[in-house]
Amino acid sequence: MAAQPTTVEPTTANGVDEVHILWTSEGMSCDGDTVSVTAATLPSLEDVVLGAIPGLPKVHLHNKVLAYESADDFLAPFHKAAAGELGPFVFVVEGSVPNEQINGDGYWSGMGNNPETGQPMTLPEWIDRLAPKAYAVVAIGTCATYGGIHAMAGNPTGCMGLVDYLGRDFRSAGGLPVVNVPGCPVQPDNFMETLLWVLHQAAGLAPTIPLDEQFRPTWLFGKTVHEGCDRAAYYEQGDFAKDYNSPKCQVKIGCWGPVVNCNVTKRGWMDGIGGCPNVGGICIGCTMPGFPDKFMPFMDEPPGATLSSGMMSVYGPFVRRMRSITNATVNKEPAWRRKEPALTSGYQPRWTGR
Ligand code: SF4
Ligand code: SF4
Repeated sequence: MAAQPTTVEPTTANGVDEVHILWTSEGMSCDGDTVSVTAATLPSLEDVVLGAIPGLPKVHLHNKVLAYESADDFLAPFHKAAAGELGPFVFVVEGSVPNEQINGDGYWSGMGNNPETGQPMTLPEWIDRLAPKAYAVVAIGTCATYGGIHAMAGNPTGCMGLVDYLGRDFRSAGGLPVVNVPGCPVQPDNFMETLLWVLHQAAGLAPTIPLDEQFRPTWLFGKTVHEGCDRAAYYEQGDFAKDYNSPKCQVKIGCWGPVVNCNVTKRGWMDGIGGCPNVGGICIGCTMPGFPDKFMPFMDEPPGATLSSGMMSVYGPFVRRMRSITNATVNKEPAWRRKEPALTSGYQPRWTGR
């Protein structure tokens, strides 16, 4: 993970054999996405950095939270990349982008100093210098993708997501729009799988990453929380939790799962375990562009859910009753399986002469 300030040139027409990952967590954030990604297993950060993935270019990771070099050494590859002296790199942005045009006499967020002015280098300055030169720009977590909590109504910083800052028409040096991997924090394997795709694409080993209209990888965000939820059968049967100690469907106590694009109920959180509603947490829509404002107040029944859960309350109990009758029937062995001198299985001999 040490800084590797060597310039790397493409080795083939389509691919590269070394890539730098320049990862700034200096947006408005809690660094939670970096922390989350340390739990990834499919693949792990270590697998990527130590070259355990077949076909992957050699990866040099530069991330403040995971770095152990001095501040100057850590910043050197960022400055080199900004000067066009560092080979292909992927630019990972963590945290939302504050509006530095309204920062008064100070600044909202910075990473190191500008060598020319000696003043703090703000996140937008880094983005302006690095994003157009990056093979790909990846926004990690909901703060970087859509603004998140820092961008909610009434915020004083004018925070926004990376696409809000760069524009929907932005294209990186590799021809990609910003690749968004939302989540608060990001689901670790969702991010690593996306990074792996981009790295394989840079190496000429993968087609263009498929993204939806909100620039999310389609295979990760194409389904709703509800579609993968362990509690979905309770919903279907109109069996709803009244408090947070219940194993039943939580829609009446604030779950937004039916209308939220997120795969954690299928994928789990760490090593396949977890995934908010599966383990007792209501879905508050943290992967969504409208988060948090459109999902507040949390823990109230979502407005649209009142009608649908009301309908399920009529249909569901009837289905549940029918199923309990069938369940009682199939939960018993057939009557002929018993010890007695007569054969009662209904066997009909085919050849009566024997
Ligand atoms: S807990 Fe949420 S996601 Fe799960 S079934 Fe109920 S409404 Fe759907
Ligand atoms: S289930 Fe809901 S709250 Fe949990 S990670 Fe997914 S979008 Fe966020």
